[in-house]
Amino acid sequence: MSDTLTHFVDGKHAALDSTRTSPIFNPSTGQRSGEVLLASRADVERVIASSQAAFEQWSAFSPLKRARVLFNYKTLLEQHSDELARLISQEHGKVFSDAKGELTRGLEVVEFACGMPHLQKGEHSLNVGPGIDSFSLMQPLGVCAGITPFNFPAMVPLWMFPIAIAAGNSFVLKPSEKDPSATLRIAELFSEAGLPDGVLNVVNGDKEAVDTLLTDSRVQAVSFVGSTPIAEYVYATASAHGKRVQALGGAKNHMVVMPDADLDQAAVALMGAAYGSAGERCMAISVAVPVGEETAERLRDKLLEKLDGLRIGESLTDGADYDMGPLVSRGHLEKVSGYIEQGVQEGAELVRDGRQFQHDSDGFFIGGTLFDHVKPGMRIYDEEIFGPVLVIARAESFDAAVKMVNDHEFGNGTAIFTRDGDSARQYCEQIQVGMVGVNVPIPVPMAFHSFGGWKRSLFGALHVHGADGVRFYTRMKTVTARWPSGLRDATNQYTMPTL
Ligand code: NAD
Repeated sequence: MSDTLTHFVDGKHAALDSTRTSPIFNPSTGQRSGEVLLASRADVERVIASSQAAFEQWSAFSPLKRARVLFNYKTLLEQHSDELARLISQEHGKVFSDAKGELTRGLEVVEFACGMPHLQKGEHSLNVGPGIDSFSLMQPLGVCAGITPFNFPAMVPLWMFPIAIAAGNSFVLKPSEKDPSATLRIAELFSEAGLPDGVLNVVNGDKEAVDTLLTDSRVQAVSFVGSTPIAEYVYATASAHGKRVQALGGAKNHMVVMPDADLDQAAVALMGAAYGSAGERCMAISVAVPVGEETAERLRDKLLEKLDGLRIGESLTDGADYDMGPLVSRGHLEKVSGYIEQGVQEGAELVRDGRQFQHDSDGFFIGGTLFDHVKPGMRIYDEEIFGPVLVIARAESFDAAVKMVNDHEFGNGTAIFTRDGDSARQYCEQIQVGMVGVNVPIPVPMAFHSFGGWKRSLFGALHVHGADGVRFYTRMKTVTARWPSGLRDATNQYTMPTL
């Protein structure tokens, strides 16, 4: 990749007109590694025109022909997985093995989308009236847009465009300006797989580019993943411009630990869920809720022991794979450090202070942090920190734990650790959260199920990928048909019909 990243339009890299840029850093070293162009409104309008033209051609392909491009794409992504994971690690800062994991979860959506000829079949009813049949078509929408966050530069775009495109839409993707290299490369590979030019365009940019996508009448649908204030803005603006919208926002995920849980397992699960990817995951566990004082004391001791062994280092180091790397940017490091200071001032007990972690580079490093005796109303409890900061919020009973989770404004993911089926069952039924794990700390649904939170973690009706993804990127038309005098002649065909 060159030092100045451009856009990917009509099957090739293109600079377009705007010369505004945003810097890109290697979080492990703190060094600036390049910059990315930021598109103007006129640039984005040009890109939408390309997508509109591509839609006319692509939507006329047979579903099987479209699916075959997806099959090729799956193979190419597999062949290039090491290269892609390196690009993710270089700009995001997550460790290589974690970047490979992200890519695999994205690839699974491509595998799901390969089945689109089956998924997009409509329904049919014979004889709904005398000589009358009724059937439904699931047709593509046109130009769809995706706006994605920094924390999964490959997986989150792959949640969206493979399904949209397999269903016959064209797609304009606006990735995060912090780490666009992996996103640009996955678009390039789709082109190499045989996708016609313009069906997937990538436009880099900031608010100006996003606002154009939200308001241009040629864009039919907007998928957004990012922080809650922007998700809410995207939902309100794009809906007001007549588009269908799914806008996924932030999170504060609680893990309830019951007194009967296997605390060794719970502590291991919490470590990975809280500190993996330096806590920069929308499904990270950021609140541990032990039920009862004795559970809290025992869990805290186990976490402290494990925190001392947390291995932190550069995202790409030959021969070493750490548990977590640095944060994405200096600005984010300052924000997370600020939250730790805020927690101390609010009266929470700072049990391990990640600010004391020292690294010999200028990378954006911070150590694993643990707070205890955290309560609703404190900012470190109420707000998403998006860093390696785990807080313990003690609950005196199961009911108090459920109430705490349900009272929180976010409802993305949650987990309960217990050996008691009755508690687990009741938790699944009563909890006001979109994705629930039972003895599973990060319950991210597989590609053939749908991903999405509740409350202020998702604006819109449909979740991403799985059956909801197919519904989101298609619109249903129902035909009721009658043929008073049908043509009964048939021609003989003796060979196997093929496409
Ligand atoms: P962000 O909201 O800052 O940015 C997301 C996207 O919106 C980027 O492409 C960015 O360029 C664009 N954007 C930023 N400010 C904008 C503005 N004022 N107007 C229009 N567009 C704007 O989020 P981020 O920091 O990149 O990602 C982290 C956030 O994403 C966290 O809150 C995390 O919880 C959330 N997230 C949620 C999920 C989920 O599935 N719910 C998944 C991943 C990340």
